[in-house]
Formats: sequence, C-alpha cells, structure tokens
Amino acid sequence: MGLTMDVQKENSMIKQKQMLSDHFMALSQVKETGKKVAYTFVPGNLTELITAFDMLPVYPEINSLQSGMRKKSGDFIREAEDVGYPEDVCSYVKCDIGMMLQGNIGPTDQLLPSPDILLLSYTGCFVFMKWFENLRRLYPHAEIAMLHIPYQADGRVDPAAVKYIKDQLTKDVIPKFEKVAGKRLSDTVLAECLSRSAVAEDLLMNVFESARHKPSPIDAYFGGVYYIGPIFTSFRGSPACVGYYEELWKEVQYRIAHKLGPITPDGAITEEKYRLVVEGPPNWTNFRDFWKLFYDHGAVFVGSTYTRVGGLYDYGFRHSPDDPLGSLAEYCLGCYTNRNLPQRIELIEKFITDCDADGLVINSIKSCNSFSAGQLAMMRDIEERRGIPVGFIETDLVDPRYYSYSNIKNRLDSFFQMLEQRKELQPRARVIA
Ligand code: SF4
Repeated sequence: MGLTMDVQKENSMIKQKQMLSDHFMALSQVKETGKKVAYTFVPGNLTELITAFDMLPVYPEINSLQSGMRKKSGDFIREAEDVGYPEDVCSYVKCDIGMMLQGNIGPTDQLLPSPDILLLSYTGCFVFMKWFENLRRLYPHAEIAMLHIPYQADGRVDPAAVKYIKDQLTKDVIPKFEKVAGKRLSDTVLAECLSRSAVAEDLLMNVFESARHKPSPIDAYFGGVYYIGPIFTSFRGSPACVGYYEELWKEVQYRIAHKLGPITPDGAITEEKYRLVVEGPPNWTNFRDFWKLFYDHGAVFVGSTYTRVGGLYDYGFRHSPDDPLGSLAEYCLGCYTNRNLPQRIELIEKFITDCDADGLVINSIKSCNSFSAGQLAMMRDIEERRGIPVGFIETDLVDPRYYSYSNIKNRLDSFFQMLEQRKELQPRARVIA
C-alpha cells in the first residue's frame, strides 16, 4: 500500500492540541475568571467579534464531532431520542442535546459553561434555527442574537445583502454583545483580529493549494479537517492561530521540497496512486477506518468541499481591517452551505482541474440535508462534464448506526476498479511538479 511506518506527531498538531486544551480549560474556569460565553455555529462564524469582546466561543457542532471521534456520540444520541427527538433529525443536534441532558460534560471531560449569549449566524441550514430554539429552551436566561444571512440564490454576493447584514450587526448583534460583555466594542481590537485572520487565511490557502504538487504533500480531506480546526473555530484572529498556520505551512513546505506524501495514522504515503476530490463531510465515529479505506489504495484527497464549510478563501476573499463589518458579512455569505448548486459544482470542478484529480467521491450524510440535497444532480453533472469516475457512498456524521463498513468498502472497491481501468485506458504522465 505504500506507507512508511514511522508516525510522528508534527509540531503543528501538538500546537493545535495545546490550543484546544487551553480553550477547554478556560471554558471550565469561567466561574473564577468571569469570562462570558457565546454559543454559536461554525458556518459563517463571527469569531473575531466574539474575541473582540473578550468572550469565549463554544461551537456545538465541534463538541458533537469530538464526541463522535471519542465514541461517545451513540449514547448521547440515544438520550436525545429517549426524550423525543426523531431518528431523522441531524445527529449533531441529538448528540449535542444528549450531552447537555447528561450534564454538559464536554469532549475533554470538563464541564462546559452555560451560554451568556446564543449567537445564531444563519447560513443556509434550517436545522440551525431549530437547534437554537432548543438551546433557548435549555438556557432561558441567555441573551439571543440572530444574524440572518441571505442565501446566494443567484450565485453572487449582492451588495444589498452585505448592507443588510452590516445593518443587523450594527443595530442588533453588536448592541446585544455590548450588553452581555458590559463594554463597548473596540474598533481597534476588532481590526487587529481581522488583520491576523487575513494572515492565517493566506497561510491556510498556501497549504490547500500545495495539493497541486505531485505527489500531494497533504491530504486535503482527512488532513484538511485538522488544518481547518483553528481557523473555523475559537482561534481565528488570535496570535496563536497565526502561529499554528506558520508552523503548518513550514511543515508542508518541507514535504513539498522532499516530495513526501501526506501523513496517515499508519505512516506517510509513499506512493500516490489516485488523486481524488471529495464532496461532503467525513464520518467521525469511524474516522480512522474510513480514512484507511482510501489510503490502503494509495488514494489521496487533493480537494474537499467540507473544508470550506466555515468559509471560502479560494476566490480571494480575506477578512479585512479596512472594512470590518463588510468583510464579516461577505465571509458569512460565502461559506459553502450558503452557496447554490452551480457554485458548488464550479468549486468541485476547480479542484479537479487545479489538482489534476482522477476521480470524485461523494459522501452523502444521512442526517445533513444541507450537504446531501442535490448531490445526485451534482454527481451526474460532473460525470457528464468531466468524464471522470464518481464514487457515491453513504455514512453519517456521528450516528454510529449509519456506518456500515462492508457497504462502503464494496462501493469503494468498485470505484477503485473503475479508476484503475481508466488509468490503463488513458495512462497519464505522473509529472513531479
Ligand atoms: S443538517 Fe448539516 S449543516 Fe445543518 S446543522 Fe446538521 S450537520 Fe450542520
């Protein structure tokens, strides 16, 4: 299968682990420190604003995915179903609610504080609205702020939509934060955060674009989900976030220079056989098994839509200290789930072209309509336009009942056979960039 077996944790991974552990520690100590807490969601998040108020963000989906990776989600989901949540509700929601019902002990086994403010940045997924209605019932004393983000129905950022979002920020969201924080927003602090965000965003894009090299030094999906950790969660805009991406970019540059493939849990890939693009989130409950199904075949992901779930930097957008609220608005408008289907297809095609991919995999998530709706149409469209093999598999985010190893393996085996046959018919030069 082409792997070297010496697995070493890279500095960037160690750094990220420390950042997370410090963050959860800070959350567990809010009673002593008096810090305020904002619960919010990843797509189109307003981390810089929260940080500018010196508050700590909590992302319920991140807690759910962490619970999934730590094999705790099945139990939490059952707890939520026992109190009436139906089977077809998004498993992130049930995992999160189940965790709260069991005492709100977070993935690091530390108590998560209750929110002082619930900030809903509504970016295309209706479930967010329902999820927050439930959180409001669980936390009746929390302040509620809602930012409505118009869907990009006609595939462009409409200046009227930017103005509409800026008005909501100015007239409603920021005053509510000022009330909870007990202080005015400092434009200087927000601008400093946004400058640092732009630096980290440039570095992240360097990392993602490195997948154009052959062999690719990164796995843009299974590695990619770690790479987006700091930028899409609690750290964007912080000096630690910039430090993380500087370190990561250094490591990737080293791998490019030495023509090394990505690192997997079983060692580095030494022979890149297939370059793939993937649409849809990964499965978290069996993350390593799922990844192994690909690296055992020498398959490396060179592009992934899921790693754009929090926001998109591929077309040049960066947060900007020159137009703080305008850039926050544009960021929210641009996240993947707020884009229409032609835009999503265009992004997948861009990955296929830029990275010279051999095939596309669609991982259809049972409980996430925001990603799954339209995937069959996307599949047909890309097959027709690009003539490349597309593999379609189904799993779930954190509900272990919907991960069927043999079904997925059977489908992937056929997909890899298709890829192999196509290679034999159309041998392509594997040029090292
Ligand atoms: S349905 Fe999908 S996008 Fe919506 S909350 Fe659940 S996982 Fe997130």
